[in-house]
Amino acid sequence: MNASLARWRLDGQACLVTGASRGIGLACARELAVLGAQPLLVARDETQLQTVCDEIAEEFPDSEPRLFAADLADQEDRLAVFDWIADLDVPLSLLVNNAGGNLKRATLDYEPGDLDEVFRLNTIAAFDLCRLAHPHLVQHANAAIVNIGSVSGATHVRTGTPYAMSKAALHQMTKNLACEWAEDGIRVNAVAPWYIRTQRTGPALSDPDYLDEVLQRTPMARVGEPEEVATAVAFLCLPAASYITGQVLAVDGGFLSYGF
Ligand code: NAD
Repeated sequence: MNASLARWRLDGQACLVTGASRGIGLACARELAVLGAQPLLVARDETQLQTVCDEIAEEFPDSEPRLFAADLADQEDRLAVFDWIADLDVPLSLLVNNAGGNLKRATLDYEPGDLDEVFRLNTIAAFDLCRLAHPHLVQHANAAIVNIGSVSGATHVRTGTPYAMSKAALHQMTKNLACEWAEDGIRVNAVAPWYIRTQRTGPALSDPDYLDEVLQRTPMARVGEPEEVATAVAFLCLPAASYITGQVLAVDGGFLSYGF
């Protein structure tokens, strides 16, 4: 393959994708397989992971996807993921921190422990996984981390405050690690989606009045699809993005640019 085309491929690279059993994580794993990477799929539900792993293997047999069931909010499980990767002996050069969750309430209704729960997965697990991945990523010429942030980390949306705080922290973590690990050859970027059609957002978007409000605030007047986030993530992983680090790329149909 000529060098210009190779910059748009991920052949020979293994990519850990968290929360890969559905939604945006699954779309990322598929898109990375399209580009030649080997997806390493992690989520909690082993049965669901096995189903999606089989589907990716059937569609992209050369990608040789692998799966591991883990609760990434638990540090023991995060360590177990990296024991598994060491046993697999694959060239891990890419990490997509996608697993995330929310407890959506009015600020005064949160119980003790709720804030911890949101941060434990959305921010602390992502930070820890970056640190655990570093010794692997540093060995490879094209090494990249992409964190799945949110427009809620940049402006007020109706997610509840702890989620927004946890995503804002993830955005800043992205910028700090990009600067700190530039000398190690690891690029660190994030994407910030607005409403994307997934199982998580299905219930809210099925309310026609609510959907109408969302669309009125979105210049492109539609919600996004998981594949539209995945293509942005894949681009940030590519050698073609070799001079891009520390960025938070909105995938939002123009939402964050829209004033009135
Ligand atoms: P989803 O709920 O449909 O899927 C989440 C995935 O993460 C699943 O595979 C689930 O098994 C996994 N997961 C959840 N908790 C986990 C844990 N403790 N350990 C391991 N895996 C876990 O979510 P989605 O809509 O695809 O969102 C994915 C990411 O994108 C999240 O970080 C979310 O905050 C972010 N995001 C989503 C939207 C949206 O509109 N869907 C918008 C902005 C940001």
